[in-house]
Amino acid sequence: MSWSLDYREFKPEEERLREALCTLGNGYFATRGAAPEASAGEFHYPGTYLAGGYDRQATEIAGRRVENEDLVNLPNWLALAFRIEGADWFDLKAVEILEFRQVLDLAGGLLARTVAFRDAAGRRTRLVQRRLVHMGELHLAALETELTAENWSGSLEVRSALDGRVENAGVARYRELARRHLEPLEARTVGEDTVFLKMRTLQSRLEVALAARTRIEARRAAKLRYVGEADRATQSFHVELAQGERLRIEKVVALYTSRDRAIAECGEAALALAARAPDFAALAASQALAWGHLWARFDIGLDCGDERTPLILRLHLFHLLQTASPGSIALDAGVPARGLHGEAYRGHVFWDELFIFPLLNLRLPEITRALLLYRYFRLPAARENARAEGQRGAMYPWQSGSSGREESQVLHLNPRSGRWVADDTYLQRHVNAAIAYNVWQYYQVTRDLEFLAFYGAEMFLEIARFWGSFATFNETHQRYEILGVVGPDEFHTAVPGRERPGLDNHAYTSVMAAWVLARAFDVLAALPEERRRELRETLALGDEELARWDDASRRMRLAFHDGGIISQYEGYERLAELDWARYRAQYRDFSRLDRVLEAEGDDVNRYKASKQADVLMLFYLFSAEELEEVFGRLGYPFPADTIPKNVAYYAARTTHGSTLSRVVDSWVLARSDRPGSWRQFLEALESDVGDIQGGTTAEGIHLGAMAGTVDLVQRGYTGLEARGDVLWLNPRLPAELGCLRLSLRYRSLTLDLEVRQDALEVHARASNAAPIALGVVDTVHTLAAGEKRRFALKKAA
Ligand code: BGC
Repeated sequence: MSWSLDYREFKPEEERLREALCTLGNGYFATRGAAPEASAGEFHYPGTYLAGGYDRQATEIAGRRVENEDLVNLPNWLALAFRIEGADWFDLKAVEILEFRQVLDLAGGLLARTVAFRDAAGRRTRLVQRRLVHMGELHLAALETELTAENWSGSLEVRSALDGRVENAGVARYRELARRHLEPLEARTVGEDTVFLKMRTLQSRLEVALAARTRIEARRAAKLRYVGEADRATQSFHVELAQGERLRIEKVVALYTSRDRAIAECGEAALALAARAPDFAALAASQALAWGHLWARFDIGLDCGDERTPLILRLHLFHLLQTASPGSIALDAGVPARGLHGEAYRGHVFWDELFIFPLLNLRLPEITRALLLYRYFRLPAARENARAEGQRGAMYPWQSGSSGREESQVLHLNPRSGRWVADDTYLQRHVNAAIAYNVWQYYQVTRDLEFLAFYGAEMFLEIARFWGSFATFNETHQRYEILGVVGPDEFHTAVPGRERPGLDNHAYTSVMAAWVLARAFDVLAALPEERRRELRETLALGDEELARWDDASRRMRLAFHDGGIISQYEGYERLAELDWARYRAQYRDFSRLDRVLEAEGDDVNRYKASKQADVLMLFYLFSAEELEEVFGRLGYPFPADTIPKNVAYYAARTTHGSTLSRVVDSWVLARSDRPGSWRQFLEALESDVGDIQGGTTAEGIHLGAMAGTVDLVQRGYTGLEARGDVLWLNPRLPAELGCLRLSLRYRSLTLDLEVRQDALEVHARASNAAPIALGVVDTVHTLAAGEKRRFALKKAA
């Protein structure tokens, strides 16, 4: 079945990975798929995270005081343990497992677990649990537990809690850093069946209130007993089971925080919701409805002869929508690179939205809009960041959290050497170009002029202003230069032998900067006259500054080597070639070559080896037509073989130490090497389900790669591009794909696409949206609501 992730065996050593992959969430909060009876330890790591729920703590490390902001692990609402008279508390590792099944149901948004086990006394018991985090009712989660005494009679004790004794301990490399973020405020019982826990984060003073309502169905159950501790609210009870009898426990949990809208106080809100929430069966039904609506917009039909590919694509969509959902629209939160699924990268927001928004833009652009507003509200912080660097405009941080200040860590532990090393990856100023690009893409797809006029343009122009001031003019070359930055390839943070960190004339950064500066004029032109005037006055954007932007957009300096290779940065050609054969022979996995070399006493900066696609990002973000235009404007040649030549050069020198890298590789190969592209696509699909980085997924999924793989199918293989008021399609399906079906939204029109090797069918659903310009291969057509068109395609060789 390609709608569920199905585990038939319990494997303790895989449990943390499964917990990440079986996370349930709704964009507001998410809970890892840890077993309810499990507590944090070697094999298990229960975790619940709130979108935007950060806290900062300081630690003394390697003689320095470092401050880190973390996405806080919230109280464990799942906690539910039981023991049969005379036995220990149930632990899967301590019983004989007769049957095991864990199923993540993507269609219905449910996680179910069935275990039949025999204890040391020979008693057979069946446990069936189902849980959900509600996609429609954002503050609700629920756990249903059924226990059947199969061949015994006796007493059973159950303990269910809201457990605030949690810390951020999910990532081994961060263990030396401060990890306690919560203090208790209140724990109590309310009425017959409800417990309540309220805690507060230490520094950010975020109050989190949880209320759990527990209902028991059994013939002979004792009353619930409350055990109150400062940071844990527990209910326990005994039940007498006769052979064959079943006990059913339903735990419905409401969660609110002091930052929520439309409440008087979070504790009161949580208690009121827990009291009025429907039962599990009703919640499961409304959950299926909410997910059904999302799937109707997001699902992709894929005929490729195997079940696994569509399943993984759905899993990716599932986790994306659990991190950024319609529920995100009312929040002030960005999209964390590792989802709400674990603690890697501390829940920070990087540039990964560049891989995520294109997918959302064409499905539910309302989500992109909300996530772009996360950036907009941090524009004052970005201005301050720029000012602190002596620049003008807005400079967004490489890693963003609560306030929009730079949250990158300054030291990084190399687990291979045990050394704390300086981390200069924060110099990735290209994140600013990504934000501007995202604003423009969102506008291209939606035509949401209100957004552009009110929010987007101001961000865009302030970012352009930053590039305009950051670029310096080199009299010798008569060109502008961007100095001292780091690109997407994090292996290169400095020029070998040079004291200061950062690279000069980094191609990807410089081209993107030139693109932003050129596009700023289109942004201004798109605005209504009075808004343009207002913004120019407010930002004091005079003709002289605009003239400098125009000039810089035409004369940004790039370096080239080896006849037509775009140098990743100036001086790249002088780096040594890595002895790839030696590393392949010596290490099973050297994707993190930076750590391998540091442990060997060497420095990855010295080599022509990249962690991830860098120059190739240009071919990922722009079509050949658009790049010809950009290079033409810069006065650099862009001969027809530029793309294949550079793809071959850099793809051969990449370790794919970031899961984003294969997505880009697959994309840039889609036109020239279809089998190669499909191979990389299949590998990218395995990033998380197959945990190809050996352990990182357990610490959080890779949302950029998840969204990126779906977008490869959505835009990459259909050749979809929203450019110049035309929706372009130029399909080139991999040979493995018989047919591809998608429904997209473009400028308020819903389009059903059916793509085959030799034909494309586009149906614009009936609506009152205006007709659009649809470009197929090289011809522009007009398509109106209600129309269906079929185009013959040239079969690929
Ligand atoms: C990658 C970055 C990415 C970050 C978060 C890093 O390993 O190099 O490009 O933004 O992970 O996903």
